[in-house]
Order: sequence, then structure tokens, then C-alpha cells
Amino acid sequence: MGTDDARAALVAWRDAFPADPFAGDHELRAVLAAALPADRLTALEARASAFARKVTGVVGPAARRYEQHDHLPELARWDGLGHRTEAVEFDPAYHEAGRAVWGSGLVALSGTPGSAFEQATLLYLLALEGEAGHACPATCTIGLARALRRAADDAVRDRFLPDLVDPEYATATRASQFLTEVQGGSDVGANECAAVPAGDGTYRITGEKWFCSVADAGQFFLTARVEGGSPGTRGLGSFVVPRLVDGAPNGFALRRLKDKLGTRGLASAEIDFTGAVAWPVGPVEHGFRTAVGVVLNTSRWLTAVGDAGMMRRAVLEAAAYAVHRTAFDRPIGEFPAVRRTLAGMAAQAAGATHLAFALTALEDRIDADRATEEDVLFHRFLVNATKYVLSVQATDVVHAGVEILGGNGTIEEFSVLPRLYRDAMVFESWEGSHNVLVAQVLTDLRRLPILEVVDARLRTLLGGADPRLAPAVVKELDAALDDVRRSAADEEFGRWHFRQVLDRLGTVAEVVHLAAAGRDDLAGQLLAELDPVRPGDDPGLVDRVEAIVAGLG
Ligand SMILES: Cc1cc2nc3c(=O)[nH]c(=O)nc-3n(C[C@H](O)[C@H](O)[C@H](O)COP(=O)(O)OP(=O)(O)OC[C@H]3O[C@@H](n4cnc5c(N)ncnc54)[C@H](O)[C@@H]3O)c2cc1C
Repeated sequence: MGTDDARAALVAWRDAFPADPFAGDHELRAVLAAALPADRLTALEARASAFARKVTGVVGPAARRYEQHDHLPELARWDGLGHRTEAVEFDPAYHEAGRAVWGSGLVALSGTPGSAFEQATLLYLLALEGEAGHACPATCTIGLARALRRAADDAVRDRFLPDLVDPEYATATRASQFLTEVQGGSDVGANECAAVPAGDGTYRITGEKWFCSVADAGQFFLTARVEGGSPGTRGLGSFVVPRLVDGAPNGFALRRLKDKLGTRGLASAEIDFTGAVAWPVGPVEHGFRTAVGVVLNTSRWLTAVGDAGMMRRAVLEAAAYAVHRTAFDRPIGEFPAVRRTLAGMAAQAAGATHLAFALTALEDRIDADRATEEDVLFHRFLVNATKYVLSVQATDVVHAGVEILGGNGTIEEFSVLPRLYRDAMVFESWEGSHNVLVAQVLTDLRRLPILEVVDARLRTLLGGADPRLAPAVVKELDAALDDVRRSAADEEFGRWHFRQVLDRLGTVAEVVHLAAAGRDDLAGQLLAELDPVRPGDDPGLVDRVEAIVAGLG
């Protein structure tokens, strides 16, 4: 193939990207169709298609601009007349994308309890662009809105919630969440930032927060140590701090913006608080419960959903590239090694979508106050396990996509994949690093009757699987659950091996969901990736890979 043909093939690959990526997303659409009643499904499909077009037509091109080094957010601490503003200035393209995101209803739906399927679908579509620049503020705003709705007293809720569920995109309608201090993000109990009661129901916040994304938000959710309280996490209160009081910055100063590996369009700052006026979000003695149980868990759920979206994008890019790019006189997609990589990526992306939306179903019921006690226990397991497992997978799947694009895969302006890869790595660390989530799952399994619920729910799902596939999945599930039981019973074993045990259980859970949905090839491929057998010992491999790749269109 000559130069002109090769370049024309690249143009054909780029043009193959659908204007409405929701329309052809059979996996997501099947998951939604299985979960939702007809009228809710129809309304969501229309909303999702409209937003998917905006993501492709508005958010993507905007993000390509404002994620470049020359267009990143900048501090604007003073205005031209010498007033302190503590503001952040963005490229106009950033706000153009923000208007499209807020206009979708992704955030405003927080005013309607039980809209988790709608919110997850919109965030998944946004993540096709890896667009943490707005996915992060949207997630933080949804988390604070939920905390105000579920935990705050009426006066605090009525003061702060209306702005957060306003569909208009503006500083006032965006929130952030600040827990991390320089002495530790995982060890939140080491927080020193202080909250002193002012005697009128408000508090004054003084101290430093070290990782403050959405530094431009209108409302900050933060944790702070309440004067006279217990040590550790029990002494932390949850607060909402409005950015402005009487039109001026509310007792805070932006020290600097961080220069980050990924999520670069997002303004992440270090902030000093000196007597900022704060309102408690619920009883201060339950502050940590609100911060983790509502705000962080909301972020963990939506991070996992975003991971599934990023994986889907990597599959779309790589599958189309394999069709259009040629090497040695044939499309690279004809090489078995490339087909096998594509099938593995597709299986992981599909498994991630099923698991993220299984979690979404629980979020939906909990938010609408329709959850059973068992739902709450299963959610406690799934929210931490899914965030951990999917964020590891997302980096792997995007990495595999970069490999399929070859050298072009590493070039920023060639495709979205380098940005997705950098963002996926950030997704791995925020809202709970791997070891911390794994440790939390193990602690919960030891303290609460969660294992019985996980066991029963996964086996019930498997009851609907094809009998030709089910025995192999049952065998893997039995083995994974045995290892979990051993980790729970044997402290030393758990300390050393539980992360690997959870890796396995997470993948098996994806396989179970795929098998229950009748996605046998994808389930089989994920199962095969879990246990790579010696070459030749997997007679179904070639047929399975061919079927999956054919399904990629
Ligand atoms: C781009 C970006 C934006 C962020 N934005 C925000 C924000 O807006 N608000 C906010 O509050 N935070 C934010 N964070 C911070 C993030 O939540 C923390 O980085 C994360 O919680 C981990 O904390 P740490 O960085 O202090 O790591 P550490 O807690 O120091 O952990 C370092 C390593 O030690 C491991 N480790 C820690 N404890 C244990 C243990 N008990 N057992 C085994 N291993 C352990 C961790 O898993 C990790 O691998 C952001 C981070 C990034 C990268």
C-alpha cells in the first residue's frame, strides 16, 4: 500500500467512529433493556442518544483542545482592580463542554431520587472521551447532592441543594470534595484540618487540603476534625463550604494548581483554609459515615462506570483500526494475534459494563429508598470491589488499544487513547487506592454476613446460564469463594493473598454476569483469560475469538 492509500485508510478509520456511539452499543443497551421498565427505558434511550451525539460532536473536540498543555486551567487569584477572587481561568472550550454535560441532566437528575441508571448511562457515554474534566465535577456534585438529601438537616439542605440540581452549568452549580491532606489520602483518620463551632450552627474551618479537584467549584464538601471530638476517623465531621460569602472568597486561598499525569483539564489545587464558614452535612459525630457511605461511595460507583466507558472507547478505536490499517498487504485484523487481543479487550469491556451496571441497580434502589438489607450488604461489597477491579482493567484495556494502534497509538493528536490511558491511571488512585479498597472488602467480609449474600446472588444469576457453560463457571466460582473464605478466616493468608483473591473473584463475577445474560463467547473468553491454559488445550478458542471479533462489526 502506498502513502496515499495508507493515509486514506487512516481517514476511513477516523470516520468510522459513530456520530451516536450509544446506538451501536449492544452490550449497554441489552443491560439497560433487561433492567428497566419499557417507559423508563424509552425515555433513557432518547436522552442517551442525544447526549452521545453531544459527546462526539461537542465534548470530544473541546477536550482535545483544553487538555493540551497550552490550554490548561490557570490560577487567577486577583482581578484587575486588586480584589482577591481565588478563581481559576479555563479555555472557553472547557465551558462549552461543561454546558453540554450539565445540559444532559446528568447532574440535575440528583434531584430525582432513584435516577442511577440514567446518571450512570450518561457518565459512561461521557467517559468515551475519558472526560474527567467534567466527569469529576459531575460526580462530586452528585455525591454532595445525595449527602445533603440523605443526611443534612432541612435548613442546610434547603440552603445548598437547589443550586446543585440546577441544570444550568455555572460555578454555583458545581461541587467538589476535599478529604485528602498531605499526611495521607488513604489514612483519612490522620486529617488535621480543624472545625471549630461558631455557636450559631456554623463552623470555622482552618487547615490545609492537599488534593482539591474542582478547585473552581461553588460548594466544597470537606472533612474536618471537630474541636473536642474523638481521635481518628470518628472525630471527623462532614461540612459544606460555599465558595463565596457576601461575594468574597470564603476564608480560603488557592496555593497552586497541580501539574498532573492525567485528568489535566480538571483544576486540582492545594488549598489553605483560614476560618472558612462551614455548615455541617448531618450530625458532625457521623461525619465520616456520610463522607464514605454517601460521598465517596457515589464517586467509587461513578468511577467504575467511567472505567467501563473508557474500555468501550478503546475497543471501538482498536476494532475499527484493525479493519482499516494494513501491514504486510493485509488488514492487521486478519492476524490471529490481533484478533485474540481484540477479543480479550471486548470480553473485559463487556464484563466491566455488566458489573458496573449491576452496581448501578443497587445504587438505584438505595437512592430511591427501596433497597433490602441484603441489597445494602451486597452493595457494600460491590462498590469497593468494582471500583478496584474495573480501574485496573481499564488501564489494561486502554493499554491494549494503544498497542493495536502501534506507534500511532502513542501520539496525542492521533487518537483519544493516550489521554484515556493517562486518565485511567488517575482513576486507579482516586476515590480509594487499590490496597485500601481491597483491605476494606476483607474487613467487611470478616465483620458482616456479606460472603453469604455474594455467594447466593452470584449462584442465583448462574441459574440462568447456558448449561454448556455453567459447570466451568461454577467450578471457578467455587474456587474463588473458597479462597475468599480462607482469607476471611486466616489473618495471615488474607494479609498476603487477598488482593489476588479479589482479582479472581472480580473477574469471575463478570463472567457470571455475562453468562447469565447469554453472552457465552464473551464469558468464555474472560474465563480463558483468567486461566491461560497451555497452547492447544483450549479447543474452543478460535471459534470464540472469531465470534467475538465478528460481533465487533
Ligand atoms: C489527579 C488527582 C486528583 C485528586 N483529587 C482529589 C480530591 O479532589 N479530593 C480528595 O480528597 N483527594 C483527591 N485526590 C487524592 C486521592 O484520593 C489520593 O491520592 C488517594 O486517596 C491515595 O492517597 P495518597 O495519595 O495519600 O496515598 P497514600 O495513602 O500515601 O498511599 C500510598 C500507597 O500506599 C498504599 N497503602 C496505604 N495504606 C495502605 C494499607 N493500609 N495497606 C496496604 N497499602 C496501603 C496505597 O494503596 C498506595 O499504593 C486526588 C488524586 C489525584 C491523583
